[in-house]
Amino acid sequence: MTEKLLDVRGVTLQYRTTEHVVTATHRVSFSIYPGDRFILLGPSGCGKSSLLKAVGGYLAPLEGEITLKGKRIAGPGPDRMMVFQEFDQLLPWKTVTENVVFPLLATSRLGRKEAFEKALHYIDKVGLTRAKDSYPHTLSGGMKQRVAIARGMAMEPEILLMDEPFAALDALTRRTMQDELLRLWDDTKFTVLFVTHSINEAIRVGNRILLLSPHPGQVRAELNSTDDVSRIGALETEIHDLLFA
Ligand code: ADP
Ligand code: MG
Repeated sequence: MTEKLLDVRGVTLQYRTTEHVVTATHRVSFSIYPGDRFILLGPSGCGKSSLLKAVGGYLAPLEGEITLKGKRIAGPGPDRMMVFQEFDQLLPWKTVTENVVFPLLATSRLGRKEAFEKALHYIDKVGLTRAKDSYPHTLSGGMKQRVAIARGMAMEPEILLMDEPFAALDALTRRTMQDELLRLWDDTKFTVLFVTHSINEAIRVGNRILLLSPHPGQVRAELNSTDDVSRIGALETEIHDLLFA
């Protein structure tokens, strides 16, 4: 039995303003093992981003606990890198290489030379070597997301956190990016926690899928995905029925 990497136990998340209390999730539990492509799937507003923020250490649970390798998450750290939906997550005044190397230099785990080597290695992995000296505004949406993925992966985090990273892309590019992510995964078997509201994307990208009910998010079911093309239709229907029951 492999050791759990990330354990989310009974996590209730709440936002408090002076006027309102918003409960984002109610006692959500799940466990992620090394090499999982774990999907949080549910309708808009069910607390997917909030859960990701909590794993990232940006939002403290009101109830429950999140542990990474048995240690309680108490704040952000380079062992959990985030990739967001927005194309503006890159620094516009830095080139592709400078964007990717930035966190490597900031955490000073590596020397300057090694940091640049690592950055260029991952830029190559996402197929952007020719654009390594370009600035973000000259890149397409898909290329910007590749930079963000390279930046996250270059840190070699324990877990990569991806919040609807392909949701703002056109359908064809989105499909290509899903395939590329799977190819990268085949290559390095990193662990990823991936948020989406697309059933199809969840099945394609994930190996395990957690279904969340609408606001406030609660666990509705946990399923294994499938690589078997002939089973995808049935799984889509099953997930649809579970989500909209
Ligand atoms: P999802 O990512 O699944 O769409 P979110 O985690 O963004 O859902 O939001 C869950 C709930 O928490 C929603 O009702 C949302 O309006 C609320 N929420 C999210 N962020 C904040 C915030 N900063 N302040 C108050 N409420 C918030
Ligand atoms: Mg969200």
